[in-house]
Amino acid sequence: MTLQDISARISKAEGDAGRTPGSVSLIAVSKVQPNARVQAVLEAGHRCFGENKVQEAAGKWPDFRETFGNVDLHLIGPLQSNKTRAAMELFDAIHSVDRPKLAKSIARIAQEEGHCPDLFVQVNTGEEEQKAGILPEDADSFVAECLSMDLPVKGLMCIPPVDEEPSLHFALLAKIAARNGLSGLSMGMSSDFERAIALGATHVRVGSAIFGERTKS
Ligand SMILES: *Cc1c(COP(=O)(O)O)cnc(C)c1O
Repeated sequence: MTLQDISARISKAEGDAGRTPGSVSLIAVSKVQPNARVQAVLEAGHRCFGENKVQEAAGKWPDFRETFGNVDLHLIGPLQSNKTRAAMELFDAIHSVDRPKLAKSIARIAQEEGHCPDLFVQVNTGEEEQKAGILPEDADSFVAECLSMDLPVKGLMCIPPVDEEPSLHFALLAKIAARNGLSGLSMGMSSDFERAIALGATHVRVGSAIFGERTKS
């Protein structure tokens, strides 16, 4: 079972970085994976998963939760404002808070429902046109705006550009989080989670290294 290999590599990376054992949460990214593979990881006892689409997650996780009990579910993909309520019902954490309009809509629904998932502000550290996330220069004011609305912002999230050394982006994200008093860092994927842990990741999002290559995108 590759889940065990990944867990062992996370433990080793925590130790190498002088981090507390168990301080890094492994989010198993199950998007577009066949249900049988997801079920195998649930049967192995893992209970923390990530999905990048609300609709896809809504199609499988209520059933899995019925069978396997409580599962900690994280939304790691972009969130359209019209799916905010559905996302807040389904997910325990949303890692893609990236614009004032979305933050306001989350705040309004949280007031109505008396409940809000943990939130991460996504930062577009590579300043890529096609990528979601608030620009680094706007991050401080956006975090302050979220906190002024009493939103439970736990940390920051980034997806480094594919063709750049991810460590530079992890270090930038850690720096922005530190100066905003945020302890959560959602960073690191299959190819670079150990480097992310070395730079302070609290949540790594690992898909293909656990489940195998995705057949669809
Ligand atoms: C798909 C995805 C991952 C996991 O990617 P792998 O390379 O398969 O580990 C992590 N984070 C986000 C935001 C993703 O969309």
